[in-house]
Amino acid sequence: MTASIRMDELSWPEYQQKIAQNVPVFLAVGATEQHGPHLPLGVDVILPTGIATRVAQEVGGIVAPTIPYGYKSQPRSGGGQAFPGTTSVDAHTLSLVLRDVIRNLAYHGVKRLVIVNGHFENTWPMTEGVDLAMRELHRDGIDDLVVLRLEYWDFVETATLDRLFPEGFPGTALEHASLLETSMMLVFRPDLVDMDLVPSDGPAVFPTYDRHPVDPDMVPKSGVLARAQGSTAEKGNWLIDDHVALITKAVRKEFSL
Ligand SMILES: [Zn+2]
Repeated sequence: MTASIRMDELSWPEYQQKIAQNVPVFLAVGATEQHGPHLPLGVDVILPTGIATRVAQEVGGIVAPTIPYGYKSQPRSGGGQAFPGTTSVDAHTLSLVLRDVIRNLAYHGVKRLVIVNGHFENTWPMTEGVDLAMRELHRDGIDDLVVLRLEYWDFVETATLDRLFPEGFPGTALEHASLLETSMMLVFRPDLVDMDLVPSDGPAVFPTYDRHPVDPDMVPKSGVLARAQGSTAEKGNWLIDDHVALITKAVRKEFSL
C-alpha cells in the first residue's frame, strides 16, 4: 500500500504508525444542501474537505472521512429546508456524531485534531459535540487531546475580500452559493459547476429575525442568496490560498509544528 494522506485509504497498522508520530488529524464537517441551480448539493462537503486536505499536506497530517450531513439549513443563511436535496440532521444528532467520532479518534491515540466546518449552521452543534467529547474523555482520564475547531471562511485577508468585493463584502451568511463558494468550486470541482445556470434573482433581502413557519417568498427561488456572477477559478484561488496559509499558520502555532 502507498501511504495516503486519507485515513480511509490507510490500513490500520499504517494509521497506528502515523498516530504514534502525533500527526494532526483533520476532520471536515459539511452538509448536503442546495447551492442554487449551478452548483451541486455537496459544496459544503467538497470545500472544507479540499481545504483540510491542502493544510494536511502542508503540515504532514491525515484527513479523516468528512461528515457529510449537517445541521438544518436556515432560510437566512442557506435557503432553508424546503429545497429538494437539502438533507439535514437535528442539532443534537450532529453533536453526538461528532462527539462519538472525536472520542474514538482519541481512544486510538489522536492528540491533535483540527475540525474544519464547511456549513454555517453547524457552528454551535459542532462546538457542543467537541465539548461533550472533551467532557467524556476527561472522565475517562484522557486529557491530552487538543482540538482546534474552525470555520474556514474566517481565514481570509481583508485585502483579499476588498479585491473580491470592491463595493463591500455582503457578509458570510449571504454568501451562500454565491461568489465565494462558486469561485472555490471552480478550483476544486469545475466539472460540477455550470456557469450558464447562474441565476440573477438575488440578492436576498432578509429581515433581522427568523419567522416560523418560514415564509417561502422570503428566499430567492434559485436558492442563491447573494450574487454568483463574476465567479472565476482565479478568485477561488485567492481565497483558497488565504484559507490554506492562515489555517496552516494557526495549526503550526497551536501544535508547535
Ligand atoms: Zn455552502
